[in-house]
Amino acid sequence: MGSPEKFEGWLGKTPDSVKGNMTWGEFEPKKWEEDDVDIKISHCGICGSDLHTLRSGWGQTHYPCVVGHEIVGTAVRVGKNVTHIQEGDRVGVGAQARSCGQSDCPECKAGIPQHCLREQVGTYDGVYPNDVGRSFGGYATYNRTNARFVIKIPEGLDSKDAAPMLCGGITIYSPLRQNGCGPGKTVGIVGLGGIGHFGVLFAKALGADRVVAISRRADKRDDALKLGADEYIATGEEKDWVTKHRRTLDFIVSTVSSAKMPLSDYLKLIKVGGSFVQIGAPDNGELPTISAWDLIGGNVKVGGSAIGPPWEIAEMLKLAADKKIKPWIQTRPMKDANTAVVDMDEGKARYRYVLEA
Ligand code: NAP
Ligand code: ZN
Repeated sequence: MGSPEKFEGWLGKTPDSVKGNMTWGEFEPKKWEEDDVDIKISHCGICGSDLHTLRSGWGQTHYPCVVGHEIVGTAVRVGKNVTHIQEGDRVGVGAQARSCGQSDCPECKAGIPQHCLREQVGTYDGVYPNDVGRSFGGYATYNRTNARFVIKIPEGLDSKDAAPMLCGGITIYSPLRQNGCGPGKTVGIVGLGGIGHFGVLFAKALGADRVVAISRRADKRDDALKLGADEYIATGEEKDWVTKHRRTLDFIVSTVSSAKMPLSDYLKLIKVGGSFVQIGAPDNGELPTISAWDLIGGNVKVGGSAIGPPWEIAEMLKLAADKKIKPWIQTRPMKDANTAVVDMDEGKARYRYVLEA
């Protein structure tokens, strides 16, 4: 095995690249270190974050960039210091590529490296410390990532199904776990897109009593119920949904990525003392204003959640393999990444596109 000196991938060079204008070309991965793993990519999911980054929606992107942080493939080169991955293993990488990993870092020590303040490198559009280069994502032939963030894919899980779990899956699995999703809980999932559909699948797999999917369009109702939701609310097309479902949910996880959301109404659906967890990350981070009455009236807590650590990704993949969870994905050839990104932006994915090499 082994890997080439330069990798190739879909380069975004301007904010316009999100409109189907990425170009295929070579790029230089970060300098090799003996803690790294090189992965020959077989699959990469298309996450909402890829679109935000291509168009510089979260601040200026370092162009040229290669996006994609739902990567699965084969380990073809493994650093001497790496013990848990062998050459030939089927492995994956999610949205994080590095944290400081020091024993005196409160977040790394607590097993939540996604909150490390000292060293934070995303799988793409990140700059490594010590001049070792930049991070490039999975719309590409190969990926190079520090082994701490490379996870073995368990048997019994198809690569194309595992790929979108590495960001989309974990981003909602983690807040479900943090909020005690399980028997006795009624859970709301707002935004039935890539991440939201994982929310329904995982909330049911974790044993929630009731799962209520909430999105704008009525034509997603059948899908929501087939995915396992007990109820579906089409906020864009139903009247009286707020009064009908008032104070029925223990907590809500919201994947909505727009400031144009009826946040005050969502908060009214939560039982007294319950929580609202925002994981969707709108361009510029904008959310609607929250009235103090929305919080005080129902003693509601508002919070957020960021991806999830490698140990929790492994836990989620095991649950998915054990319970035979099948995400709803559509594979697209890697060569068609541009049209797949445009389709994703138009909300056509049902519910995740996965690029296949
Ligand atoms: P997606 O597939 O586009 O799904 C988002 C869904 O939200 C859409 O399907 C849409 O369905 C629904 N929605 C409801 N109200 C909306 C509104 N006002 N405007 C737009 N959409 C609305 O995207 P995704 O991949 O699931 O990602 C969702 C968000 O999570 C993105 O912002 C992404 O960057 C973010 N994210 C966060 C983390 C984290 O760590 N917190 C990690 C990864 C991604 P309807 O049309 O049916 O309403
Ligand atoms: Zn993502």
